[in-house]
Amino acid sequence: MTVMSGPQPTSVLPTGAIVPAPAGDGVVAPLDLLGLSREALAERFVALGEKPYRATQVVKWLHQRGVVDFDAMTDLAKGLRARLAEVASIRLPRVLRAEVSADGTRKWLLDVGAGNGIEMVFIPEAPRGTLCISSQVGCALNCTFCATARQGFSRNLTTAEIVGQLWLARSLLADAGPEVPPITNVVLMGMGEPLLNFDNVVPALELMVDECAYGLARKRVTLSTAGVVPAIARLRERCPVSLAVSLHAPDDALRDRLVPLNRSYPIAELMAACRAYLEDDHRSRITFEYVMLDGVNDQPAHAKALVRLLAGVPAKVNLIPFNPFADAGFRRSPPAAIDRFREILIRAGLMTITRKTRGDDIDAACGQLAGQVQARNERLRRRRSADAAAALQA
Ligand code: SF4
Repeated sequence: MTVMSGPQPTSVLPTGAIVPAPAGDGVVAPLDLLGLSREALAERFVALGEKPYRATQVVKWLHQRGVVDFDAMTDLAKGLRARLAEVASIRLPRVLRAEVSADGTRKWLLDVGAGNGIEMVFIPEAPRGTLCISSQVGCALNCTFCATARQGFSRNLTTAEIVGQLWLARSLLADAGPEVPPITNVVLMGMGEPLLNFDNVVPALELMVDECAYGLARKRVTLSTAGVVPAIARLRERCPVSLAVSLHAPDDALRDRLVPLNRSYPIAELMAACRAYLEDDHRSRITFEYVMLDGVNDQPAHAKALVRLLAGVPAKVNLIPFNPFADAGFRRSPPAAIDRFREILIRAGLMTITRKTRGDDIDAACGQLAGQVQARNERLRRRRSADAAAALQA
């Protein structure tokens, strides 16, 4: 399978290969099928003079069965298949690099054009398989402990690029062997802040939970946010999937340092938004993520402050041992400090787990792989500029 790195029109060949559609004056941008929810696709089909139920058929072929060859969509009339081949495209991300950790964690670096890569990670914990996907290229939020933040922000991913990660992972894992569990959970916890790409993320979530597409239960799809407070309420209205909050500190002074977004939406506002998110939903909990940074936020006083903060919030806490990267400026908390912290939370009645460190041998911390590629591209760019300057002077 090959993929375009630029915004050229594409069409899908029977093999699933993607090639440029003939370009030229008057070329109308093709309908990018992968990124359309069933409803949106039905509207497009009506505009094409087709029956809206055709959208359900196409969504099932594409997302449920993983078929991207229009000719293989045998319950569509031949005329419609030919029409789709003319007016529609299916773009899939291209794998630039794939790694498998000794613990079974798989990580892929995907090409999204213009020298940019995004990351996707699969964590098998049979019978569960969790896919962690990205929502933006880089991130603008600048959390101080985050490898992705060091790359800055390039752009939002399109809906097709977001849901395309799930499509691709499912297809890549299909041949991985019976010991590898299927994808049962999806978390938007990779590169980027999903709520800052709301308009593209929500249709992708809709496809994930659509019974005619991926059919995942809402509680098995988790959106992780650093705390974009106004968008939390909008998410509840549009597509209330499970919510995770990257908290990382129990008070504003420390959180302002670790998660600068806190200066715009301080903890009290964030907690109010979390409570409102679960209003009328007495069975769900918000997951609070807390990265354990040695000597920074891992002391018993921090744990006690966290207990006070989460009192009355249906919460579970994920303690995440920090995954170090070059020049991070932070160290992972020692296991004893993490255990002591966890003990305080559990004794206070907070459901708390320490996330296992996974994929240490493959740079599984978000942003590390893409950061390496970005650094290499930057080195190449500098070398080319230096070569060009030398050639001019010669
Ligand atoms: S932790 Fe998440 S929100 Fe913060 S900079 Fe990294 S990717 Fe962005």
